[in-house]
Amino acid sequence: MKILMIGAHQDDNEFRVGGLAHKYVQMGYEVRFLSLCNGCGGHHIMTPAETTARRAKESAAVAKLLGIRYDVWEDMNDCTLMPTLENRRRLIRYIREFSPDLVISHRANDYHADHRAAGVLIQDASYMLIVPHECPDVPAMKKTPVILYYEDRFTDPDFRPDIVLDMDDEIDIKLQIAHLNVSQVYEWLPYTEEGVEVPEDEAERFEWLKGMNITADTTDEEVMAAPRGYAVRFAKTAARFRKELITRYGEERGSKVRYAEAFQLCPYGGTLTEELNQKLFGF
Ligand SMILES: [Zn+2]
Repeated sequence: MKILMIGAHQDDNEFRVGGLAHKYVQMGYEVRFLSLCNGCGGHHIMTPAETTARRAKESAAVAKLLGIRYDVWEDMNDCTLMPTLENRRRLIRYIREFSPDLVISHRANDYHADHRAAGVLIQDASYMLIVPHECPDVPAMKKTPVILYYEDRFTDPDFRPDIVLDMDDEIDIKLQIAHLNVSQVYEWLPYTEEGVEVPEDEAERFEWLKGMNITADTTDEEVMAAPRGYAVRFAKTAARFRKELITRYGEERGSKVRYAEAFQLCPYGGTLTEELNQKLFGF
């Protein structure tokens, strides 16, 4: 199976679907990350060129950790992605060349203009993937891939948790991935949040990154009330979609899942047949 995860920025795939990416690599699937923007806007001190170079190194470290190919549209500056015909065709060609079975990306309603543009581009590309006279220089796909949106917290309409997956086995790798995005999790993102102090020491920083020590006894209410942190963030997905976890895994396992990743089916993607469902989410 070939899996393509498309973020507007480096860190969108990492935080939202890093656990599933790792699981697929372990299962022998070919996973690829694409970032539609080059990361230049994500810092308050470094210049855009310095940030782009640093983000490229951090993404390379993530790619190495996961054992995946990681592409970046290096000419696309942050905060400039638009759902133009040119970008749609660029994406159609890119997706066709890899020819994935599953594509995962943003919904088109999101706080960030680049995320929204990414969501629209994927929706607009989805049907054209199989249309031979559109971008005839790259052979059309025979079948539209299944397309999923990763979780967000936005409303109008709300994110719909069609697929919620147990990521307890992946929490260590998810935290390591976050830790490799140094310029984001320890520098830029704390800058954008008021009153957040980041420890200097690396081991202390990693503890701080988690936000809270989550154990088997931590309740969903405690998780939902915790203000910040990446262990907290991934635990909130499990707490938020507890009902769906119990439906998928049964009361015994579903009620105990600590960390999850959640996805909504895009109606313009290919059909998630029972066979595909088993191959993609049957673990
Ligand atoms: Zn982003």
